Amino acid sequence: MKKMIIVGGGIQGCTLAIHLLKMKKLDNHELLIIDKNNKPLNNWRECTDLISMPFLRSP
Ligand SMILES: Cc1cc2nc3c(=O)[nH]c(=O)nc-3n(C[C@H](O)[C@H](O)[C@H](O)COP(=O)(O)OP(=O)(O)OC[C@H]3O[C@@H](n4cnc5c(N)ncnc54)[C@H](O)[C@@H]3O)c2cc1C
Repeated sequence: MKKMIIVGGGIQGCTLAIHLLKMKKLDNHELLIIDKNNKPLNNWRECTDLISMPFLRSP
C-alpha cells in the first residue's frame, strides 16, 4: 500500500522522495510520484537542454 503520493516529479518532488528513502522513512513500494510527463525532471531537462547546462549551478 502507498503511504505517500508526491504530485510532481520535478526537482522538488524528486528531492523529497530521495530524502524520505535515504532517511528510511519509507520503502520504495510505499512511495509513488505522479507527473504528467513520462520521465522525472522533465521541465528541468527541457529548460537546461536549451542552454546546454547539464548540472545545477547552485545545488
Ligand atoms: C536554465 C535554468 C537554470 C537553473 N539553475 C538552477 C540552479 O543552478 N540551482 C537551482 O537551485 N535552481 C535552478 N533553476 C531553478 C530550478 O530549475 C527550479 O527551481 C526547479 O526546477 C523547481 O522545481 P519544482 O520541482 O518545483 O518544479 P518543476 O521542475 O517545474 O517540476 C514540477 C513538476 O510537477 C509536474 N506537475 C505540475 N502540476 C502537476 C499536476 N497537477 N499533476 C501532475 N504533475 C504535475 C510538472 O509536470 C513537473 O514535472 C534553474 C532553472 C532554469 C530554467
